[in-house]
Amino acid sequence: MAFFNSSTLDSPIEYLKGVGPIKAEILKEEAKIFKFKDLIEDFPFRYVDKTNFYLIKDITQDGITIQLKGTLVSFEKIKGKNNRHRLVGLFKDSSGFMELVWFQSVKFLEKSLKPHHEYTIYGRISIYDGKKSMVHPEMELTSERLDKKGNAFQPVYHSTDKLNARGLDSKNRRKLIQRLFEKLGKQDFPENLPEYITKKMRLASRHDAYKWIHFPENIEQKQWATQRLKFEEFFFLQLKLLTTKIVRKSKLKGAVFQHIGQKFNEFYHNKLNFELTGAQKRVLKEIRHNTGSGIQMNRLLQGDVGSGKTIVGLMSMLIALDNGFQACLMAPTEILAQQHFRSITDSLEGMNIKVAFLSGTVKGKKRQSLLDDLKDGKIDILIGTHALIEDPVVFKNLGLAITDEQHRFGVAQRSKLWQKNKNVVPHILVMTATPIPRTLAMTVYGDLDVSVIDELPPGRKEIQTLHKREKDRSRVIEFMHKQIARGRQIYVVFPLIEESAKLDLKNLNDGYERLLHYFPRPDFQMSIVHGRMKSKDKDLEMQRFVEGKTQIMVATTVIEVGVNVPNASVMIIENTERFGLSQLHQLRGRVGRGGEQSFCLLMSSDKLSKDAKERIQTMVRTTNGFEIAEADMNLRGPGNMQGTQQSGVLDFKLINLVQDTGIIETARNLAQKIIDTDPNLEHPSNIRLKRYLERMKHKIKDWGRIS
Ligand code: ADP
Ligand code: MG
Repeated sequence: MAFFNSSTLDSPIEYLKGVGPIKAEILKEEAKIFKFKDLIEDFPFRYVDKTNFYLIKDITQDGITIQLKGTLVSFEKIKGKNNRHRLVGLFKDSSGFMELVWFQSVKFLEKSLKPHHEYTIYGRISIYDGKKSMVHPEMELTSERLDKKGNAFQPVYHSTDKLNARGLDSKNRRKLIQRLFEKLGKQDFPENLPEYITKKMRLASRHDAYKWIHFPENIEQKQWATQRLKFEEFFFLQLKLLTTKIVRKSKLKGAVFQHIGQKFNEFYHNKLNFELTGAQKRVLKEIRHNTGSGIQMNRLLQGDVGSGKTIVGLMSMLIALDNGFQACLMAPTEILAQQHFRSITDSLEGMNIKVAFLSGTVKGKKRQSLLDDLKDGKIDILIGTHALIEDPVVFKNLGLAITDEQHRFGVAQRSKLWQKNKNVVPHILVMTATPIPRTLAMTVYGDLDVSVIDELPPGRKEIQTLHKREKDRSRVIEFMHKQIARGRQIYVVFPLIEESAKLDLKNLNDGYERLLHYFPRPDFQMSIVHGRMKSKDKDLEMQRFVEGKTQIMVATTVIEVGVNVPNASVMIIENTERFGLSQLHQLRGRVGRGGEQSFCLLMSSDKLSKDAKERIQTMVRTTNGFEIAEADMNLRGPGNMQGTQQSGVLDFKLINLVQDTGIIETARNLAQKIIDTDPNLEHPSNIRLKRYLERMKHKIKDWGRIS
């Protein structure tokens, strides 16, 4: 995302000596390199370290690539079994001897290699039977090497077959960049950070940073360069996000919820049969403050499974109603949407509030009259699936749109909600149970206000989590019998993924049959739910479990999201090793919702990979969603985190969201401080920032409307 002030760097790539029109085409196609500056912006992904010299005696590891200095004592040509020749050399340094072997270019090497001369050699070590050797080492006469400078760390660039075939492999790219740098000077890399930042953070100049990231002479230069460029990358993104947020906050008018009225109060005093937790009260206050201000709310509500987000959502909707607006709640699945509909209808019983349900299953006349009522303002609260955001759905006066479990919705889908009121932009509340690690939240939700429910309702007992293996199965069955005898209900969850769907389905059915054997009808009843069933059947089975008519629910992860059956206190997960951490956490969150002690049994095979073991151990150790999210990010990397896939926000050039937390926080804090004191970047000391942001307007991605 750099910007260069120079016409040199803006030149088309074909004008670089050694490129020309044909190679330019390939560079454009294969590497998106159009201009000189793109070549420089394509950073090496690793370096070949030629700063260190190994001693032969210190080599203990097979397969490492290293550099040595020593004498080529002798070599001879040996004829192999297949009549082909190989060249075998004897190499010696101050500490010992080893063999060098070449299978190719034997004739050429025979002529050019010089025995008794000192060489610097580079290559991959193999150790066989205690004997050390190097196959096809790069050989350089040390005497010739001395006057070469700047190749202490050699950059390696991403390449493709096409690039390689056209003489644009990593080595040649290196040469091109070297040539380019000969033409460039400091003036080509104007500073974009104010002096008070570069001084305070001791950042390398931009020129040095760009030069050193390609050609560091030592490890310090490499670190300086990456430090500077990583900082720059994240800092400007944050600056941009924060300025966008300010613009939104000052310009975008939202519905004004001036007062709390009769509906909210009646619910609060007469209907709510528990005390709100401190965290719920705090979040409600934040939402009230926000929606009363006249500025549109764009808020993410994070709260672990079972923390009671729904009630906060419902009470926010009542505030909207009290101010003459409509509200809607969108859930990602039919089951979850219906559950919300039922529980909200129940809680509002006896109050004069019209709640309606809409999904793909609502059709024909029923649908039409619902749509008419919505338009006429006869419906106060609409609950449903993504059917809600379709174009024919027109509200009279939508003031608040809530989406539950946001990671299931695409960014584009969600942004449609913004357009559902012609007069004002509805307030948006995004509820998620996916705890997003701090560093990630900063990036993905830089423009959202974030509320956190970090407290569970009182009286919840910590779920006991145990790791069990196949050999424990009979004890697990016994345990299930005991729990059912106490009136509890049990989930048994099997993995089902697209790629192995057939096998998984069989696995699920086998598991179901096995359980039938241990829990025979009519004394016991079981439900079964999986994604391949018709949604009508699914709902029926689910409903039987919700009503307590079945004791065991055998299911795939369709139950992962949001299902609430307080009497279910045992979660048994089969093939635990095949689930990701956040998925396991979501699944476990289905129990522990009532007053009873709950259990989560993680069944696995005996042999586990290191990762699987770590995931299971994490689950046994903690029930804290944030801790689990951090562990998940460390194990899988941020690119695979839920909620980030569609945002596309994670394609950084250099920043690594897991490893660079230090830089990320520094950059974020600094950007925040600057925006707090100088929101429009008008202070003379910030002039470079302002200019750079303006020039980069289209380059730095805008995630402003991510909700
Ligand atoms: P989630 O945050 O996972 O969506 P829910 O909103 O489904 O959680 O709440 C889980 C359960 O906790 C529900 O049965 C709800 O009625 C109950 N609950 C919510 N808040 C409280 C509270 N303050 N005290 C007691 N129970 C509560
Ligand atoms: Mg929920």
